[in-house]
Amino acid sequence: MRPPTEVEVLIVGAGPGGSMTALRLAEAGREVLLVEKRPEIGNPVRCAEALETEVLHRVIGELDPSWIASPVYGARGLAPDGREVRYIADEPVGMVLNRRLFDRGLAARAAAAGAAVLTRVRAFAPRREGNGWRVCLRYDGESVELRCRLLLAADGVEGGLSRALGLVKPWPKAELHSCAQARVVGLEPEEKPLIDFHLGSEAAPGGYGWRFPTGGDRANVGLCVHPPEVGRGAARELLARLLERRFPEARAVELAAGSIPALKRPRRIVDDGLLVVGDAAGHSEPLSGGGIANALQGAELAARIAAEALESGDLSRRGLEAYEREWSAGVGRSLRRYAKLRRFYLSLGDRDFNDALRLLDEQLERWRAGKKGTVLSLLTAVMKGSPRLLLKARHLL
Ligand SMILES: Cc1cc2nc3c(=O)[nH]c(=O)nc-3n(C[C@H](O)[C@H](O)[C@H](O)COP(=O)(O)OP(=O)(O)OC[C@H]3O[C@@H](n4cnc5c(N)ncnc54)[C@H](O)[C@@H]3O)c2cc1C
Repeated sequence: MRPPTEVEVLIVGAGPGGSMTALRLAEAGREVLLVEKRPEIGNPVRCAEALETEVLHRVIGELDPSWIASPVYGARGLAPDGREVRYIADEPVGMVLNRRLFDRGLAARAAAAGAAVLTRVRAFAPRREGNGWRVCLRYDGESVELRCRLLLAADGVEGGLSRALGLVKPWPKAELHSCAQARVVGLEPEEKPLIDFHLGSEAAPGGYGWRFPTGGDRANVGLCVHPPEVGRGAARELLARLLERRFPEARAVELAAGSIPALKRPRRIVDDGLLVVGDAAGHSEPLSGGGIANALQGAELAARIAAEALESGDLSRRGLEAYEREWSAGVGRSLRRYAKLRRFYLSLGDRDFNDALRLLDEQLERWRAGKKGTVLSLLTAVMKGSPRLLLKARHLL
């Protein structure tokens, strides 16, 4: 379908950030066009698809059961020395999504609320014109120019549009996770599925390896690494090794690679007539690289501020800056803490991971024996047990 030449709000990118913003703005009665450059929303999946259940329910409300690939009952840590530490809860503590269906479902909800959704449409060359924007849209080998009052860049880590606007600079290597992942079959199913974290320099230098269950004998097996510590293409080679050594029974079905922002400090996410959402804004959590929940929360906030600004008619940077302010005081605050934690994590060597998992195991043994405390008391006990860890953690205080 040919894109229109004028719309009130243009949202670029139909990932969780873009679709959620489109949904909320359409519900607020605004005229919204959501464009996605790929032929199919949610495909290919470049994500391990795990997240906490609570945020998803809080932001989205009712979930479609088909979006959930597997519940998660806890986690298993694997140290470089082979030690395995498990925590298993009685009830699910998280989930692994089916992003293909989730992304598609969220965009469908936005369309049902009144947003126009177009795939195979790439937005580029945005320029300010009067009080709005003129943006080129490429579809079916043709280009049209579209005028909009408000532009929302939700174009992910590639962020070509945000970069063309000069607001978001290319990510420095040190502020990225470089990832590779395989969808695999043939694993032993678990009655209470856990997510695995493989730690240490052999598994994933400056990052971690994962196995996230996706139902039955299937899982996402992947890893992220800290790019300055490895050469180009290292993530794929390390993935092949992880699969061979730790999951010899697994058979890979699909491979994917990608990056996740891991910002040291926040960036500008607002300008005249412009808001940046999700990975494009660098909103993924810097330690784990989890970005789905933050993209959804940022979208919810951006949509509220945008709806208010559209109502008042003030779409200037000043009129929109509540988005940056409220983000910074809320989720942004925890991201700053996680950025410090990443610095600490990057200072750890294999000996530290071995110590940390041994101490964690001892503390969890006390929990299992009935002496359950808070997560904070658990971590404090782990730190106190290793002077070397404590020394490395000093800048967290
Ligand atoms: C290997 C890997 C594993 C991950 N695992 C997890 C995990 O387990 N849990 C978690 O929470 N997070 C995970 N993440 C991060 C998560 O995938 C992202 O944080 C999340 O997808 C961000 O959502 P978003 O809407 O901001 O961007 P995206 O989901 O990237 O969506 C952006 C969309 O914009 C489109 N687009 C880009 N440019 C244009 C343009 N010019 N015109 C039109 N469309 C455009 C893209 O095609 C894309 O569909 C992982 C990431 C990777 C790479």
